[in-house]
Amino acid sequence: MQNILLLGATGSIGLSTLDVIARHPEQYRAYALAANRSVEAMVVLCTEHKPVHAVMFDADAAAELKRRLAGVVDTTVHAGEAPMIVLAESQHVDTVMAAIVGFAGLSAALAAARAGKRLLLANKEALVSAGSIFMDAVREGGALLLPVDSEHNAMFQCLPADARARPQMERVEKILLTASGGPFRGKSRSELTEMTPDQACAHPNWSMGRKISVDSATLVNKGLELAEACWLFDRKPSEIEVVVHPQSIVHSLIRYVDGSVLAQLGQPDMRTPIAYSLSWPDRIDAGVEVLDLVKVGRLDFEAPNLSAFPCLRLAYEAIELPGGMCAFSAANEIAVDAFLSERVRFTDIDRVIEHTLKTVDLAEPSNLIEVQDLDSAARDIAGTFVTELTG
Ligand code: NAD
Ligand code: MG
Repeated sequence: MQNILLLGATGSIGLSTLDVIARHPEQYRAYALAANRSVEAMVVLCTEHKPVHAVMFDADAAAELKRRLAGVVDTTVHAGEAPMIVLAESQHVDTVMAAIVGFAGLSAALAAARAGKRLLLANKEALVSAGSIFMDAVREGGALLLPVDSEHNAMFQCLPADARARPQMERVEKILLTASGGPFRGKSRSELTEMTPDQACAHPNWSMGRKISVDSATLVNKGLELAEACWLFDRKPSEIEVVVHPQSIVHSLIRYVDGSVLAQLGQPDMRTPIAYSLSWPDRIDAGVEVLDLVKVGRLDFEAPNLSAFPCLRLAYEAIELPGGMCAFSAANEIAVDAFLSERVRFTDIDRVIEHTLKTVDLAEPSNLIEVQDLDSAARDIAGTFVTELTG
């Protein structure tokens, strides 16, 4: 029985994870659930899954949850970030699903890495911002880091898993990172100026949280995933190629020196990579619809359009700068927030990122405090620029 701490339980990944867990009650138990402030959703989840602990980041939400659960279930309710860290380190927890959105998930994910947990990573911003600090924590803590992001889960499935096959890692010629192209694929820069938050969040293939949906529309998500793949598989950016594949059926590919290209295919349903990360090296039923290739009919591939979608170009630049991806990700969070609340246009997102990268004092952070400082500095610059754009 694996006891799971689910960080970001009320989100898109959180709910898909609980769906998979509930299909295998003899193997997995939602031991603790954590979320930001959505009390209603948490009441439903705690009543259904009966976790031993529940954490709300927001103190008022925690107090409200406590009142609502009293006499209903025997769940202990906690408030703030500190209990998430304590749970991530707890000897009662075997597995941590890191599915908080954004930089907010870093401290708890890092604690799980240091505590040597089986760490299922959806929260790519945490790894991208902390980079080597995150990977060192995984190594030093003896954690097992398993990628949940569908592309990286696909790469993981196509790379040699067996230690005896390690020489094959040296025979990887290129990682092909697939991108759906998002809801605005094919649109010109001038058309993009008019796009609304609801249009940006209407992804053609995937149903996801609003932040990652916008990231997918700008191709920021692919930039973050480029960095994520470099850290996870110890690659240089030049060893990774982004390929647009609008059907989101091929989740990524590995090209070897002998010309072999291995791909992982599946429905665009996050329950497949979630189930794989939960069960690896085994496999379990994920409740996912069978992939009918005849029904899919065709699989298309094309190059990304970096002039209509400059965020991916900016990511290629940022990844070469010390601390660049930390600043990139922080500026993006500010810009996406401003776009979702209709303070800036869709095409201002790349302007905010570009301005921040040019302005912020970049240096490679060497510990968590320095990562947090760089993140805040980038947020301040991005926030000021947003105010200038709106003023
Ligand atoms: P979401 O917005 O649907 O959910 C976010 C979750 O994080 C919520 O439960 C929210 O309560 C919680 N949260 C936010 N701030 C918090 C805080 N300070 N403390 C505790 N909890 C907090 O987001 P999502 O789509 O589920 O994405 C989660 C992460 O997974 C992101 O990093 C995203 O990039 C990554 N991811 C998502 C998908 C997908 O299909 N949704 C795919 C790949 C990767
Ligand atoms: Mg992905």
